[in-house]
Amino acid sequence: MNKTPFVTKEKLDQIIADYPTPFHIYDEKGIRQNIKALQDAFSWNTGYKEYFAVKANANPFLIKIMQECGCGCDCSSMTELMLADALGFKGEDIMFSSNATPAEEYAFASQIGATINLDDITHIDFLEHITALPKTLCCRFNPGGLFQMSNGIMDNPGDAKYGMTTEQIFEAFRILKAKGVEHFGIHAFLASNTVTNEYYPMLAKVLFELAVNLKKQTGANITFINLSGGIGIPYTPDEMPNDIAVIGDEVRKVYQEVLVPAGMDHIALYTELGRYITGPFGALVTTAIHQKHIHKEYIGCDACAVNLMRPAMYGAYHHITVMGKENDSCDHKYDITGSLCENNDKFAIDRILPKIDTGDVLYIHDTGAHGFSMGYNYNGKLKSAEILLHEDGSYQLIRRAETPKDYFATFDCFDIIPDLCQ
Ligand SMILES: *Cc1c(COP(=O)(O)O)cnc(C)c1O
Repeated sequence: MNKTPFVTKEKLDQIIADYPTPFHIYDEKGIRQNIKALQDAFSWNTGYKEYFAVKANANPFLIKIMQECGCGCDCSSMTELMLADALGFKGEDIMFSSNATPAEEYAFASQIGATINLDDITHIDFLEHITALPKTLCCRFNPGGLFQMSNGIMDNPGDAKYGMTTEQIFEAFRILKAKGVEHFGIHAFLASNTVTNEYYPMLAKVLFELAVNLKKQTGANITFINLSGGIGIPYTPDEMPNDIAVIGDEVRKVYQEVLVPAGMDHIALYTELGRYITGPFGALVTTAIHQKHIHKEYIGCDACAVNLMRPAMYGAYHHITVMGKENDSCDHKYDITGSLCENNDKFAIDRILPKIDTGDVLYIHDTGAHGFSMGYNYNGKLKSAEILLHEDGSYQLIRRAETPKDYFATFDCFDIIPDLCQ
């Protein structure tokens, strides 16, 4: 089984001649088509809106595409809020789903009119000390226990730090209502990277039933339900991708079954997808610069875990295509490594691939979400460039690679290494 890169070898060689590896490349056409399919799947819901999870990929050129497609932004930190604000997103187009939130972030979110999603009941007091409570507020729910589906356990909310318990969310709604909040939202994120059409419909059932009970018992005017992120992508070539049209339709059925009979047919649905929107439409392009034959066969690349942390952090699988060798027989077994002094720094372990020669270009699939954005600077390694492939085949640098000067920049107010940072 295989995965096909969204860019040809010829095109990639052309790009590499302009911008040396490593870099992340993104497919604008794929992103736009994908957003369209998502919006079509939920078009039955009048108020439906996707708030792209900025943490998945915070490149402003990509966020601008989301904006053109009619998406809002889901932010979780000060800089993400600043980015959304600077790009001209209006308050109602910004969701602020944070946790352990610093006071200044709530203050800024409130100032720009973002919709605040309270992670905890204690945040009501916390927020009130910072600003007058807004007329619209959302509360994040965590039912605890295990989130289970037909084919097993999907995730473990009982072990997750997010959200309020059932008791707390009822109490929070009562308090907020008494304090004059007029419009309420409910949010939950109960399973991550789900590659099954069942997750959203099951989550919808939990949240819709909760909404009915919250309305009954507190009289709160619930205007939206935020299904958050969690729709996954097939990282391995044998996984079946989610069918977003089926997911949208199954959620519609639950809506009909639970909300409509309760007279709650005006409720808008929101999503905060990240991985699903950009994941498959990004790739990390790196060159094999070393071959090493010791107890195992190693290929050393010019990218490392700093550029893509998921394999090191979660043991995550990312498919690799050796460009130009797509049809060669896979008869070699390699560990594909970066250069960090950290043995987790492997993009693949015991991967069966065609014979790799020094200078070969490796295309690491599905890095469009939680790829570049998880980057860090261990070993003093620098973050890569990002390139956007447009629909017409032209391409554009959308972030330059870091330079040593960027790396040393936080010492620019001292005189310890002026030659490196000023
Ligand atoms: C991470 C996150 C998302 C996006 O998750 P994906 O798995 O990328 O879809 C959405 N909402 C919140 C609150 C998050 O923390």
